Amino acid sequence: MKDFKDYKEEIYKCSRCGLCQSVCPVFKTTLNECAVSRGKFNILNGIIKGELTFNKNVKKYLDLCTGCNACKNFCPSGIDAREIFVAAKHEYYKNTKLTFFQKILNSYFLFKILLICAGIFGHILRFTGISRLLKLFEKTLLKSGYLGKRLYLFNSLIFKQITGKRTFCSGVKKQKAVYFDGCFNKYINNDTKSAVTHILEDSGIEIIKKDFECCGISYLNDGNIEKFKELITKNLNTLDCDCDYILTDCASCNSVLKEYKNYNETAKALEFGNKVTGVLDLIKNIKFEVISDKKYNIAVHKPCHDSYDFIDVVKNIKGINFIEIEDFDKCCGFSGKFALQNQKISRKISSQKAQHYIDANVDFIITTCPACLLGLNQGLAEINANNKPIAVNLFVFLAKYCKKQTT
Ligand code: SF4
Ligand code: SF4
Repeated sequence: MKDFKDYKEEIYKCSRCGLCQSVCPVFKTTLNECAVSRGKFNILNGIIKGELTFNKNVKKYLDLCTGCNACKNFCPSGIDAREIFVAAKHEYYKNTKLTFFQKILNSYFLFKILLICAGIFGHILRFTGISRLLKLFEKTLLKSGYLGKRLYLFNSLIFKQITGKRTFCSGVKKQKAVYFDGCFNKYINNDTKSAVTHILEDSGIEIIKKDFECCGISYLNDGNIEKFKELITKNLNTLDCDCDYILTDCASCNSVLKEYKNYNETAKALEFGNKVTGVLDLIKNIKFEVISDKKYNIAVHKPCHDSYDFIDVVKNIKGINFIEIEDFDKCCGFSGKFALQNQKISRKISSQKAQHYIDANVDFIITTCPACLLGLNQGLAEINANNKPIAVNLFVFLAKYCKKQTT
């Protein structure tokens, strides 16, 4: 991994053309020049020249970024802004005494406790039937301010059992896959894993469960490289058996697990990254069709970290009406810690995005990342969309609403 000082030439490559303004979701929402790459490079230039020092204001501006990579894909100078911001934040952490709030945000122990508590709360809502009761009062929840909207958001994520056995795959040779269930799917919502298990049930692939820790993406994005490396070591040690794949159902986990080798230069990290396989890779040749006679209006949200293209799989589902939404591939505004540190901006980006789906009269928004599901549901809650559209994980949609095409 390169140090901040190694990016000097990259930062100088910024021509100040300002084209990144047109694609940066945070700039478009705030019109704050410090939110966009150009503004941040001006600040970092000041640091390189010794006119500024890393302080909490600089960190605040660096945090005004969802890490969506839109500027990288658009910049005529080809600058990887996210990578530079990560190195700059790492430099800040190396030289700064953390505030109490920063220590809380950075504590993996507290993060895990929070996830476990949220998971227990979710199970209580589900098993006591309170979750179904809350569904009846969704309109009231949406109108009852911040806490009501949060409860609506949480309740929309409660795990629902997938029923009705259908055969999706068959005849694949015997293989072993270790399942990497990201922390959100592991602790709060088992929907996706249950859907994947259901889809792969007759595939001949044995799914092995291991107790992995978080993939570490939020620590990486925050520049907390030491914590990220700790999680890499733990996850590498957890893989204690032979397997053909390390299976991921989350676009973000998939992308970051492949980056492990850049932060842990061991043969095991290299092997780990090479075995990482998205569920989509195993099922992309299957053709699906919806079970219901109803012609659903379906749109997709492409996560910023989606490294495999699931849109063709959705477009090819027989019996749906596919709707292409403007900005379907733009950031949902959630992005882990960004949503905690910049709540108002995050909610605004999410609600602008959600409005496009409502305007297009979409029934389902299909995506492949649990954080994006949170972002989409956050946006829908903000604009009081009740029950429609439903934001759903691709594999859950396939397992619940589809079968394998017969003709
Ligand atoms: S698009 Fe690239 S070169 Fe232009 S201002 Fe933004 S970061 Fe600089
Ligand atoms: S990565 Fe995304 S949010 Fe961050 S500066 Fe670039 S366009 Fe803006």
